[in-house]
Amino acid sequence: MGTTRPRPAQEDDWWKQAVCTSDEECAELFYSEASGAAARAKRICFSCPARGACLAYARETVEEFGIWGGLTGQERRARGRYGQSGGG
Ligand code: SF4
Repeated sequence: MGTTRPRPAQEDDWWKQAVCTSDEECAELFYSEASGAAARAKRICFSCPARGACLAYARETVEEFGIWGGLTGQERRARGRYGQSGGG
């Protein structure tokens, strides 16, 4: 079993709108290094109503790994903690 997404501490409202709440899906896509997994996860993020808040949360909590708000950890770092949004 792979890595799963750490849950926001207080079940923030945005988390209730998240479309990636399955631990199995999370491990297979959002934290996977398998070919194509990140692209598939990002496609899910771009249709997620919680995307903006999710990305803000990942930046605030300095989540280093996994896809959050449609961006990889490397992409989030490149944009900076308070940098521009992920586009799209
Ligand atoms: S934006 Fe992506 S990672 Fe964030 S809650 Fe939505 S589907 Fe999950």
